[in-house]
Amino acid sequence: MNTLNQFKNFSSSLSQSDLMPVLFMGHGSPMNGIEDNEFSRTWAEVAAKNPIPTAVLVISAHWFTKGTRITAMDLPPTIHDFGGFPQTLFDVQYPAPGSPILAQGTAQLIHSTNTILDHDWGLDHGAWTVIRHMYPQANIPVLQLSIDYTKGAQYHYDLAKELSALRKKGVLILGSGNMVHNLRMVSWEMINGGGYDWAITANEKFKQAILNKNHKSLINYHTLGSEVMLGIPTPEHYLPLLYTIGLQNEKEEATFFNDKAVGGSLTMTSVQVG
Ligand code: ZN
Repeated sequence: MNTLNQFKNFSSSLSQSDLMPVLFMGHGSPMNGIEDNEFSRTWAEVAAKNPIPTAVLVISAHWFTKGTRITAMDLPPTIHDFGGFPQTLFDVQYPAPGSPILAQGTAQLIHSTNTILDHDWGLDHGAWTVIRHMYPQANIPVLQLSIDYTKGAQYHYDLAKELSALRKKGVLILGSGNMVHNLRMVSWEMINGGGYDWAITANEKFKQAILNKNHKSLINYHTLGSEVMLGIPTPEHYLPLLYTIGLQNEKEEATFFNDKAVGGSLTMTSVQVG
C-alpha cells in the first residue's frame, strides 16, 4: 500500500468529493496565542464552523528555509521563536502529534522540488498561537511546510497547487502570516487597533484582487503600488497567502474575517477559500 492510500485512514468522515476549505490566517502578535480577544475568538469560531480536519498543514511565515522542508516527526516540539514576551507565553506547550505518514505522502505530491523530511523544527508561533485556539485539545496532527526563501512568488503559488489532493483527504491547509506586515513602522499609539492610510489602502488592494480572483496581480505584488510595497518590506508574511489562493478552484469564493489593522502597519485580515 502506498502512503497516499494510507491517507484514507485519516479521512473516514469525508467523501472524495468534499474539499476541505483552505485558510489564510493573519497571526499578528505572539500574545494572541494566550489572549482571549476578538482575533483568537474568531479563530475558534472558524474552526467550529468547518469540518474537523484529519490533519493540519501549516505554511508559516516563521519557517523560511533554503529548499522546502516538511516536519516529519511523531511529536513536533512547541517552538518559542520570539523574545521580549511574558514567561506565560514561553510556558505554553501545544502537544499536537505530527504525522510521519502524511509528511511522506505530501513530499511525494510535490514534484517541483525535492521536499526534505525534517526532524529538527516543530511548531513555530505562526502555527501554535493560532491553532491552539482552533483545536485546544491538541488531538489533531499538525505539520509544517517551510517556505523556500530562494524562490519567488510564482513558484510558491504553483507549489500550492501540488498540495490540492490533500484537501480531498480532509487536511486543512493553513497559510499563517499577515498581508500587511511592516514591523519597523509599528505605531504604539495604534497598538490596540488602527492602521496608517497606506496600510488600509494596501489591505483593500489585496482584498479586491482576492475577490476578483486576480491572482496574477497578487503574484506580481511588486506592481501593486507604493502602499503595497510599504506593506511587504520582506515577503515572508505575505507568501503564505499565495499558498491559500493557489489552492482556490474556479468555482470557489473567498470570504474574509478578522479584517482589521493593528499597530498602524499590520493587518490581521484573514481569508477562507471554499
Ligand atoms: Zn509573524
